[in-house]
Amino acid sequence: MNPPLPSLHPFSAAQSPALGGALQPVFERGLHQPSEGEPIWVIRLSPGMIAPSRHSDGPAWAEADLYSSKVHRRCPVIGRWQGRSVLLSLVRHAQAKAAGWPGTRHWLLQADSPELDLLITAVSLAAWEEQHQFCGRCGAATQARYDEYAKECPRCRLRQYPRISPSMICLVWREEELLLAQSPRFQNGMYSLLAGFVEAGESVEEAVHREVKEEVGIEIQRLHYLGSQSWPFPHSLMLGYWAEYHQGEIQVDPTELVDARWFHWQDLPLLPPPASIARRLIDQFVEWRRHAAED
Ligand SMILES: [Zn+2]
Repeated sequence: MNPPLPSLHPFSAAQSPALGGALQPVFERGLHQPSEGEPIWVIRLSPGMIAPSRHSDGPAWAEADLYSSKVHRRCPVIGRWQGRSVLLSLVRHAQAKAAGWPGTRHWLLQADSPELDLLITAVSLAAWEEQHQFCGRCGAATQARYDEYAKECPRCRLRQYPRISPSMICLVWREEELLLAQSPRFQNGMYSLLAGFVEAGESVEEAVHREVKEEVGIEIQRLHYLGSQSWPFPHSLMLGYWAEYHQGEIQVDPTELVDARWFHWQDLPLLPPPASIARRLIDQFVEWRRHAAED
């Protein structure tokens, strides 16, 4: 007898075991424009890279500074961290590469929960800043709005918001087993869950059925939504599901996957890092099966 399916998985910072109930620095979103001389954090980043801090105090990914309208006027504000506004300083790719800055994934995979929220926001907004400098309708240079995260065309007034692309990630299970797949992008032998973008006009649930069918050729039933996570590669909002196997044999789509197979929950391969929604969905499944085994 299976225990009931878990309800919405709390993916919030407060649930992170790393936080341990102690008072932790929290990332507050919003356009907290600092005044002259106020202490701020500056994250220096470029597409795909974030600069390490040159100071030993403070976070490894930001510099402590004092706000100066001369220096920081063009730096977007993304929120507050430990009571200080966080600004982005966007640097050209060639310059960041020459300086040997670590890649974005390096930072995200070692961040704890509130840091992860901040860094995902920083990386997402930096990419949007870089890619939306001109109006998509008339080609004029866009201007930042100061009352919301948006850019506006001064000529035709088209307003653009940070791009977010809904995508699904799904744990398919069959009694004691779950389906894991290997993408050609995984260099280290890691297995993960099936995932894909929602297409225009499609519901997320339709996308889950379609992607699973396309990638491994099986049919699923009983979709169960657990929670979501933003992930800035390139600008995904991952909606996490469990689905029960219904019918069919695994037939791997070789254009998408190297391998896909059933794994028993007590015998799992190398999995994605704990910060990822994929891993949280898998961990939750293992916990659920363990609970069932104990009953
Ligand atoms: Zn325009």
